[in-house]
Amino acid sequence: MTSRLAVDFRFCLVSGVHVTGERAELWTDKALVLDWREVRHPVVPATTLKGWLRDGAERALRSLGVQVCDASSASTICGRCSVCEAFGHPGRKSPLRFRDARLSDALRDMKMSASLSRHRKTAYEERLFSTEVAWAPVLEGTIDGIFSSPDKALRAAALLWLGAKMGFAIGAARSRGLGWLGLESFQTKVDNEKRKEAELAQQIQEMTREVRGMSI
Ligand SMILES: [Zn+2]
Repeated sequence: MTSRLAVDFRFCLVSGVHVTGERAELWTDKALVLDWREVRHPVVPATTLKGWLRDGAERALRSLGVQVCDASSASTICGRCSVCEAFGHPGRKSPLRFRDARLSDALRDMKMSASLSRHRKTAYEERLFSTEVAWAPVLEGTIDGIFSSPDKALRAAALLWLGAKMGFAIGAARSRGLGWLGLESFQTKVDNEKRKEAELAQQIQEMTREVRGMSI
């Protein structure tokens, strides 16, 4: 018997968003990633979303005293913690399947920036670069996965939820005010049955309780 997890999420955006892709566009140094299959709306790629949610979940758990690894570098991925179990590690693929998240109804414009010379603190004209920015009301998408039990599916959903709540900005140029967002809705279904956010919070609580149990 396997269990199927389906998550629908929606963030409201409070600023423009930029994620640099491979796409080359005339007069643009850093073009947005677009969905080529559909109407060419900008997207946050699945890999960016996965890394961002994982990072958020790790930081949140660490602040709650739960020991998890730091996936920001491949050499520090432990392969044993709850985050590794849900998001995968070099020895095992994640049971979760991430997809590109849509920046629906986005307007696109260009932001010009100058890279500063660290020595002279002046901007060189030739170092001006353009970044394409998407302005959209929401970022939305789905994540699903196949697990060996409903409990494992719910636990993975709890980590995704924690990561989604933790992140305050996604994409590039976050320190310059791009990609700021807030979680608006997060709907979880395990084997087609709706599960409440309170159940996700309960899962996180259990993870922190396990830690306390160990330290006594
Ligand atoms: Zn780990």
